[in-house]
Amino acid sequence: MSTDPNCIFCKIIAGQIPSKKVFEDEDVMAFHDINPWAPVHLLVIPKRHIVSMESVTPDDRALMGKMMVLAPKLMADAGVTGGFRQVINTGRDGGQEVFHLHMHVFGGPRPWAKG
Ligand code: 5GP
Repeated sequence: MSTDPNCIFCKIIAGQIPSKKVFEDEDVMAFHDINPWAPVHLLVIPKRHIVSMESVTPDDRALMGKMMVLAPKLMADAGVTGGFRQVINTGRDGGQEVFHLHMHVFGGPRPWAKG
């Protein structure tokens, strides 16, 4: 499993930085965003250090599918009943700040919504 010792999300996976974890298996982990933009704001990440969507390959199809279909379960577990939004920021122009691929999952009433 490739990791980057300088990556904040790799450190979260390794337990070197604490997080409010809601899910983990051999491939992915999900935890609450430290600076939530929504009543429920989760991050779903691959355990393998993948920099961004610019780095994924066809070999990552199953992994990306797992991340995508995890969201409804996590939102249901969190008590979100009115729908949610999944967002992946990619690269500088995509607004990505942490360069370990992650999917935001926003749930809860809409006053937080941007745009
Ligand atoms: P990006 O802008 O890269 O799509 O989003 C990065 C997200 O990671 C931000 O929403 C930010 O609040 C979150 N984040 C950054 N550092 C930490 C951390 O140490 N712990 C947690 N739980 N979230 C973090």
